[in-house]
Amino acid sequence: MTRAKRRASRSVAANGRATKKAAAKRGLSLARSEALMARAERVIPGGVNSPVRAYRGVGGTPPFLVSGKGARVRDADGNTYIDYVGSWGPLILGHCDPGVLRAVARAARSGTSFGAPTEREVEIAELICEALPSIEQVRFVSSGTEATMSAIRLARGATGRKLILKFDGCYHGHTDALLVGAGSGVATLGIPGSPGVPEEFARLTLQAPFNDLAAVEAAFAEHGREIACVLVEPIAGNMGCVPPLPGFLAGLRALCDRHGALLIFDEVMTGFRVAWGGAQLLYGVTPDLTCLGKVVGGGLPAAAYGGKRALMSQMAPSGPIYQAGTLSGNPLAVAAGLETLRRLRRRGTYERLDGAARTLAAGLRECASSAGIPLTTAAVGGMFGFFLHPGPVASFDDAKKSDLPRFRAFFHAMLERGVYLAPSAFEAGFVSLAHGPREIRATLVAAERAFRAAAAS
Ligand SMILES: *Cc1c(COP(=O)(O)O)cnc(C)c1O
Repeated sequence: MTRAKRRASRSVAANGRATKKAAAKRGLSLARSEALMARAERVIPGGVNSPVRAYRGVGGTPPFLVSGKGARVRDADGNTYIDYVGSWGPLILGHCDPGVLRAVARAARSGTSFGAPTEREVEIAELICEALPSIEQVRFVSSGTEATMSAIRLARGATGRKLILKFDGCYHGHTDALLVGAGSGVATLGIPGSPGVPEEFARLTLQAPFNDLAAVEAAFAEHGREIACVLVEPIAGNMGCVPPLPGFLAGLRALCDRHGALLIFDEVMTGFRVAWGGAQLLYGVTPDLTCLGKVVGGGLPAAAYGGKRALMSQMAPSGPIYQAGTLSGNPLAVAAGLETLRRLRRRGTYERLDGAARTLAAGLRECASSAGIPLTTAAVGGMFGFFLHPGPVASFDDAKKSDLPRFRAFFHAMLERGVYLAPSAFEAGFVSLAHGPREIRATLVAAERAFRAAAAS
């Protein structure tokens, strides 16, 4: 046998083994996760502590995760996956980053919480002010929900106005005023808002389609003197990934200025994710207030809101608008966030994230196309998204045209092949600095087969 022939016959044998392995894998065993879910459902509503985790949008049982390392996670049955959820955005350095672990352990040894000022809070605030020139003062809270809730309280307090304007499909956390047309989790469940939010509250929230300046103009024409703020995800990430059209954010800035309303960028997802200076740097539009979360906590519960000193100093105790938190600026969370931000500040990080997300998005498009499935993709910095729909996608109505049954088939086919995507057609995906060319390549090999399986389903 020639060497080439030997190699060929070895590769046939290897292919045979791989096919068998893939077949075994296709019956992904989730026995332990299923048992855990049965227990969970008895004592936790829907078995989960945040709705989208329950896989209602895609069906099946969510894997219970037990560990993560870099770009990968492992479940209770020993299956491993390349992870594109990254705890829904925070884990931009990957799982169990040694630097973050060290920083958290060091902080924990000195005390887990004081409810008193600490030095690292000053350091992380200084770093945020350096990264985002629109922020001169910043207040830490424990979740993105608290950040947006506090920012709109500030906007209402500062302007003396009641109405707020948000966009369909943008999610800003689960505070009453913002659970209106809120995309993502609520969209996955197919409910328009939420019972428990009184109509009287919901009436104070105006809505416009994302990327539709004319609708915002019309709202201002009707309610101009009553609108306290326009709140927007500068890149919508809770209806998939939908970047702003050219001129949209600048148009919002101009309308807010003309009508004396504040412009709030909810950068809970995009802050430190798409660029060191956030989406506001990428698009060159300066908001009055910025909400941060996810990445700023480095995987622990922390979020923040900030803006110019003249505005922020209206918060208690320097001003009359009240907001507080027992665990705000928690030492462990701030240590994790600080280490994460310091690493992100290094040269080249966002080029790497951007490159990985773009390669992935382009690859997905190619794999889908070779299976005859039209795909619209977006990738900005370390976030990406795809819609099973020819596009273009500029609003939530466009996003909803995605082929949901086929998304479900694709999602499960990917999970079986070891790729962990968000279990909803209305979520962005995230890459981390631990997602190298190897992970992206393995993902695209899986995607090629998964799209073919989805096309056949
Ligand atoms: C995740 C998210 C929130 C809510 O943050 P939580 O920490 O889940 O409360 C708010 N706004 C945006 C844009 C988000 O992506």
